[in-house]
Amino acid sequence: MTTAYIALGSNLDKPRAQLDWALRALASLKNSQLYQYSSYYRSAALLSKDNPTPQPDYLNAVAVLKTQLVPLDLLDALQALENQRGRRRDVKAWSARPLDLDILLYGDLQLDSPRLKIPHPQMYQRDFVLYPLCECEPKLILPNGQRLADLCATPAKQLSQLS
Ligand code: ATP
Ligand code: CA
Ligand code: CA
Repeated sequence: MTTAYIALGSNLDKPRAQLDWALRALASLKNSQLYQYSSYYRSAALLSKDNPTPQPDYLNAVAVLKTQLVPLDLLDALQALENQRGRRRDVKAWSARPLDLDILLYGDLQLDSPRLKIPHPQMYQRDFVLYPLCECEPKLILPNGQRLADLCATPAKQLSQLS
């Protein structure tokens, strides 16, 4: 079993229900065990130059999965779950979506392939990923050598932890 950290996000179609559904789905993922998950966090949507229209806030969380799925099979499984929630792929990057499931880390694997990059390239810049990850794994040393706890030492700006 390899430990994989999954980032969950939703800002459409009842985000809390989407994350509840996604955690149940991860708990029944084949050849895998849902080991732990964070509380939910609210954050403002990231906007891009291509897609500057304001969007609803996101709900985010992180799940810890022990899995025997190889990375690309795990990505396929996560994208199948996104599709089940009506995720559209014919839209601009960073559009509002009912469910987004990203692989943050997969054991100590470093992978840079067209379809899958691990660690997730943006994870170090995203408080909505780092803080829920720290809740699950406060002693984690990130692949770049930084202590996760050091990155989360001060209260996050523009991120609120929900009960
Ligand atoms: P971001 O990656 O900045 O969070 P996003 O989640 O909105 O943006 P998507 O449209 O969901 O991006 O995914 C685009 C593609 O990214 C996916 O089809 C997938 O092949 C690829 N991808 C690369 N690395 C990863 C990863 N670690 N986890 C999930 N998808 C990844
Ligand atoms: Ca994402
Ligand atoms: Ca994604």
